[in-house]
Amino acid sequence: MTEQKVDLIIIGGGPAGLAAAVAAWDAGCRDMLIIERDDRLGGILQQCIHNGFGLHIFHEELTGPEYAHRYINQVYERGIPFQCGSMVVDVTADRLVTVVSARHGLQQFRAGAVILGMGCRERPRGALAIPGTNCAGIMTTGTAQRLVNLEGLVPGRRIVILGSGDIGLIMARRMTCVGAEVLACVEIMPFSSGLTRNVVQCLNDYNIPLLLQHTVVEIHGRERLTGVTLAAVDPETRQPIGETQQYIECDTLLLSVGLIPENELSRSAGVAVSPVTQGPQVDQHLRTSVPGVFACGNVLHVHDLVDEVSEEAARAGQAAVAWLNRTARSVVSDKLEKSPVLVRDGQGVRGIVPQQMTRPVLQDKIHLSFRPDAVYKQATIRVEADGTEVFRQKRLIMTPGEMAVLDLPVNRFSVDTVTELRVHVGVKES
Ligand SMILES: Cc1cc2nc3c(=O)[nH]c(=O)nc-3n(C[C@H](O)[C@H](O)[C@H](O)COP(=O)(O)OP(=O)(O)OC[C@H]3O[C@@H](n4cnc5c(N)ncnc54)[C@H](O)[C@@H]3O)c2cc1C
Repeated sequence: MTEQKVDLIIIGGGPAGLAAAVAAWDAGCRDMLIIERDDRLGGILQQCIHNGFGLHIFHEELTGPEYAHRYINQVYERGIPFQCGSMVVDVTADRLVTVVSARHGLQQFRAGAVILGMGCRERPRGALAIPGTNCAGIMTTGTAQRLVNLEGLVPGRRIVILGSGDIGLIMARRMTCVGAEVLACVEIMPFSSGLTRNVVQCLNDYNIPLLLQHTVVEIHGRERLTGVTLAAVDPETRQPIGETQQYIECDTLLLSVGLIPENELSRSAGVAVSPVTQGPQVDQHLRTSVPGVFACGNVLHVHDLVDEVSEEAARAGQAAVAWLNRTARSVVSDKLEKSPVLVRDGQGVRGIVPQQMTRPVLQDKIHLSFRPDAVYKQATIRVEADGTEVFRQKRLIMTPGEMAVLDLPVNRFSVDTVTELRVHVGVKES
């Protein structure tokens, strides 16, 4: 098999891959290829037929497919090459990308730069270890969404949803709209892990109960699910409280218990992965620890809003082109610097991205994103540079279900000498 040389390979034709490709093209790259395993471009947005996408970038409320098509059209207009129905099965540290497809068989591309945009997948039942039978009627909310929205099938009539992330909330409303009865949305934490607007529009507006600090402790049914046992959990230990158990008759249990960035390829390339975000560790240019490999979108960290995915991916596309055009005097060096500014999670903060800043830092502001570890009302975000507070900002409310973003002005600290930035969130309410 001959290796094909290409300047830029983009893995994944979802919102991240599409926006990265458009930005890279606009920055001057003409030799690139988007590789997508699905039969069409658009990623998870193809099945998200509800509206609420694009408010930030297009100032319009679009459905998922409409939002995706705005970017797919930009790809067509520019003539950016893409290959669907093609699965990337391996990426090496020297950027040899191996692809399998029915149409082309096995292909290998030697890429100047690679952008990882593989998105994330849902945590399955096996990851939960709920006692009970292995009967039909238990599936992830994403699978149910695909069945209902793309295949026209209704997977059940009496539904319990475990987990209150955005997909679970949206599917509670969707299942109600297709005639099913959603009996409860059950959440082990004391707060929903979804956006507040989704709790209001998808549960409250449809009188669907949200049972906080509850979980499913047993699954019943032989061939098909017949019911689940729920119980309240101890707020400290999160262990079920026996005497609170209640049986609910239902035929379907939808699982919305978290998303896992798809980083098998990143790992095979030797990319360092954060144990907190479960995505690659990156610098402010979205560069991973492997030279010439960049990451953006849900493969990097799970986003709530696709607009943020597109913006982040555009930065990755531009940075990849800067890296391809690097010269001996370029600010985008071959490897990550040995002594960067480390960016750390402080009190109340989980999963800050980027995890480091490479010098020289030429931007006026550094875009940071993270999640608070609990609900904070009248919250304060504080940034310390080597232990000294350099930035403070108030927020009315912060919740783990909503990613916090912060554009940190770089003139607040001495970027040439500082070794560590630490971001904290304070005033915990619940
Ligand atoms: C149910 C649901 C509801 C949502 N609702 C909203 C909303 O209301 N508003 C909003 O702004 N956002 C919403 N989002 C979030 C938004 O859809 C995501 O943030 C966005 O789709 C992430 O884009 P991505 O490109 O990183 O990942 P994806 O959209 O998952 O795209 C990744 C692509 O990579 C491909 N891929 C993966 N591995 C390989 C491989 N090895 N080889 C080739 N291709 C590969 C996949 O097939 C996929 O097409 C929602 C998400 C979901 C799941």
